[in-house]
Amino acid sequence: MAKLRGGMDFRSGTAVTLPPPPDRAAGDTLRITCPGPPTPAEGRPIAAGDRLYTADHEHAPHLTCPIAATVDALIPWPGADDPRVDVVLTPTVEAVAGALALDPPSKTDPDAWREALRDTGPWPQPRLGPDLVTQLRRGRDRPLDRLICVGLDNFPPYPDRSSIIKSFLDDVILGTQILGQIAEARRAYLIIDPKIATAGRLRPICRSLGVRLRTTPNVYPCADPTMLIHQHGGGRRKLPHGADPTTVGVALVTPWTAARIARWLTRGKLDLLQPVLLAWPSPGRVLTPLFAFPGQPLAMLDPALAGRADELANRAVFGDPMTGHAPDAPIRRGQRLPPTLPHGQHLISVLPAAGRAPVAPCISCGWCVDVCPTRLRPIHLVQRLERQADDPDARRHLDYCIDCGLCSHVCPSSIPIAQTLRELRSVSGELRTVNDEVKRAE
Ligand code: SF4
Ligand code: SF4
Repeated sequence: MAKLRGGMDFRSGTAVTLPPPPDRAAGDTLRITCPGPPTPAEGRPIAAGDRLYTADHEHAPHLTCPIAATVDALIPWPGADDPRVDVVLTPTVEAVAGALALDPPSKTDPDAWREALRDTGPWPQPRLGPDLVTQLRRGRDRPLDRLICVGLDNFPPYPDRSSIIKSFLDDVILGTQILGQIAEARRAYLIIDPKIATAGRLRPICRSLGVRLRTTPNVYPCADPTMLIHQHGGGRRKLPHGADPTTVGVALVTPWTAARIARWLTRGKLDLLQPVLLAWPSPGRVLTPLFAFPGQPLAMLDPALAGRADELANRAVFGDPMTGHAPDAPIRRGQRLPPTLPHGQHLISVLPAAGRAPVAPCISCGWCVDVCPTRLRPIHLVQRLERQADDPDARRHLDYCIDCGLCSHVCPSSIPIAQTLRELRSVSGELRTVNDEVKRAE
């Protein structure tokens, strides 16, 4: 078993069956991050389904309040230029509904659906590019050739997406078909691992609904958009890491987005709870499948996490345990708020307490080069960019780093190569903006 620097073990996993979403859930206090100033004022009541944030751009989704509550506090994020504001919601009842009774658009008109999705947003899809609403809007300006529902796991062997396909099989296929029509894409695809236990059942349903089923070995980092579009984009399409897939005529959706759309249409209720897998790297506690509201404190997700909010701030990462991002938690009245579940995040990993091993010099073993899926020379790239951050050739190569973390994972000297490249990418982005502005001014 390979071991990640920092102590995370890789475990072989198969898709788990998620329980059905509960009708009602405990009325915990939620903390939801708005991209800008929220709609309600502090101290005011708000109903489930009311607007929490109104987007100021037609491409962006609004944000809906999931529970009936009182707005307990509005907390601006630290940093003068950061427009984000956290809304703290105290529920008005002990148990709150897990879905919103709301009719889906009655018309099959794609514009009516785009508006409805915008109103009931957000529809974020971490690690697949912009959220669904933004992809659909951009697809209207630049026609989409294909819509792809990505059933490969974001971080195998943790089965975040394959578990949703296994648990909501018919819904995922129906939702993919509907989303293909809303996106006005020429073709809709579902990509799965050929070894997924339900592959035999998926095939006839896909055929009957006109969804094309494609298989790819579920190997990290095959679910990355750059890799996916290279393999399933119909040839000749290159997507720089982090770029919007609609720029190459493709919309990407997660299985839960597809299942949620189908369930809305067939039940007349929009799911507000989202599926979550809690990954525990300890013997006997590998995965806990559950449903929770975005904005819910992580410490409330499982009894084993209760009362450990401080520890969780340093040990819980969203998604990918290799390059996963630790939760943000702005300061409020001198207290650090507990980390909370963000919208659209289906995997939370709780890392062991062990810290990083001490960093040793590069021994030129070449392992980072061997393992890089986009054929970069990771340590050479780091060294070149550290010497000259605006080196145009190195910056071009940096665009193809998909932040998979494999180079850091294999490095025997524990050099945080991927993390350094991530930091250099943000420096490089700032430099680009400055250079563009200088060019415009000339
Ligand atoms: S994180 Fe490392 S291994 Fe992964 S693409 Fe970037 S340079 Fe290559
Ligand atoms: S894997 Fe680590 S030690 Fe080996 S060449 Fe890459 S950076 Fe150097």
